[in-house]
Amino acid sequence: MSLKQRDQKHLWHPLRQHHLHPESFAIVKAKGCILTDEDGDEYIDAISSWYTSVYGHCNDYIIEKTYAQMQQLDQIMFSDFTHEPAIRLSEELIKILPEGQNKIFFNDNGSTAVEAAIKMALQYHFNTDDKRNVFIAFENGFHGDTFGAMSVSGLSVYNGPFAEFLIDVKRIPTPDGENHDIVLNTLRNLSLEYDIAGFIYEPLVQGAAGMKIHDVDGLNAILAFCKEHKILTIADEVMTGFGKTGRHFASDHIETKPDIICLSKALTAGLIPMAITSCTQVIYDAFLSTDMAKGFFHCHTYSANPIACATAIAGIELLVSSEMQNNIKRISKAHEDFGRQIKDHPKVKSVRHIGVIFALDLNTETERYGDLRDQLLKFFMDRGVFLRPLGNTIYIQVPYVISDEQLKKVYQVIEEALEIV
Ligand SMILES: *Cc1c(COP(=O)(O)O)cnc(C)c1O
Repeated sequence: MSLKQRDQKHLWHPLRQHHLHPESFAIVKAKGCILTDEDGDEYIDAISSWYTSVYGHCNDYIIEKTYAQMQQLDQIMFSDFTHEPAIRLSEELIKILPEGQNKIFFNDNGSTAVEAAIKMALQYHFNTDDKRNVFIAFENGFHGDTFGAMSVSGLSVYNGPFAEFLIDVKRIPTPDGENHDIVLNTLRNLSLEYDIAGFIYEPLVQGAAGMKIHDVDGLNAILAFCKEHKILTIADEVMTGFGKTGRHFASDHIETKPDIICLSKALTAGLIPMAITSCTQVIYDAFLSTDMAKGFFHCHTYSANPIACATAIAGIELLVSSEMQNNIKRISKAHEDFGRQIKDHPKVKSVRHIGVIFALDLNTETERYGDLRDQLLKFFMDRGVFLRPLGNTIYIQVPYVISDEQLKKVYQVIEEALEIV
C-alpha cells in the first residue's frame, strides 16, 4: 500500500474536510527548496512549508548545530533550571529584535505565543490596578487556533461552533493609505467606550488573509494612539519575522515599536517547533512583586527546549550572514520585476510584494477553499511547484536559498496558470 493509502486509515489532517479531500501528497524527503514524494517526483517548495524553512530544508549547518546540542543536553525543565542555549538565544535575539524588547518568554507554537501575549497584556493591567477586558484587532487578521488566538483572529469563517466562547474583541479596518480618519476615529470611539487592554496586529502583512499588505504610516498612527492610551501593542511577527519583509522584523519598517512580540515559524527554521513571546522591561517589571500571584503562571512542558534553542541560534547566524541578506535582496528584486511584468495581465486584478513575499489577486472571485483553489493547487503540483493559493490569491514565499532558475520556474507556472483561470 502507498503512503497515500495508509494515511487514510488513522490520520486526521488539519484544515481539511476529509469527506471532500481524502487524499494527501506523501513527501518522503526535503532538501534545500526541493520536496520529493513517494513516487520520486520533485516539487519546489515555493511557500517554505508555511513560512518556516527559509534557509532551505534540512540545512546542513542547522542540522550540525542541532545534532551537537542533542549530544550535550536534550531537555530540562525551564521553571527551575536554565541552560546555555536559552541564554545565548536570548542574547542573540535581543540584538536583532526591534528596539525596546528586553525579555524572552518561551512557548511551543505561534498560537501559544499569542496566547501568552494576550495573558501578559491582561495581567499587566490587572497587576497595575487598571483592569481592562477588551482587545482590538484588525479585520481579517489571523493569530492562531487556540481560544485566545482564535478570539483575536478576524478570519472567523470556520470558528462558528466556538463563537460564544471567545474573549471580547473589537475590530478596526487595516490602514490602506486612504482611510486614515475612519481607522483612527473607530479606534478613538472604541477607546472611549471600552477598557482596552491591548491591540494585536500582524505588522504590515496579513498572511492568512492572503498576504494583504497595509500602510506603514497608517499602522504607525494606530500604534502611536495606543501608546498614548496605555493600550499594549502586540506585534504578531509569527509569519513576518526573520527576514520575510526584507528587514529582520516587519516592525523594523515602523517607527513606533511594539510592547510585545510573538515569534515562531522561521524562528526554528522548519526543524523543530518552538515559539517566543518577547516584551519590554516595563511589561516584565509589572510582574515583579513579593506577591507570588503577580508572577506569570503560564508554562509549557517543553519551554526553552535546549535543542530547539540551538536550532534557533543557528538560524539567526544564517539570517544575519551577508549571504542570506543578499539572497533576500535578490528575491525581492526578482519579485519586483515579476510584478511589473504581469500586473497588466487581463486575469490579474492586483499584485503586491515586500521582501520575499509576493502575491497576486486574480480577477475571478472564489471561496477560500473553493474549486478554483483546488484546481490551481493541482495545476502547480503537476508542474513541480508547491504553491498554496487562498481564494483568488496566489502567493509566493520562497526559501531564501532558492536559485534563480528555481524562482524562474515558480514565476513561469504562475504565468501558465493565468491561461487556465
Ligand atoms: C501561523 C501563524 C500563527 C499560528 O501559529 P501556529 O504555530 O500555527 O500555532 C499565528 N499568527 C500568525 C501571524 C501566523 O502566521
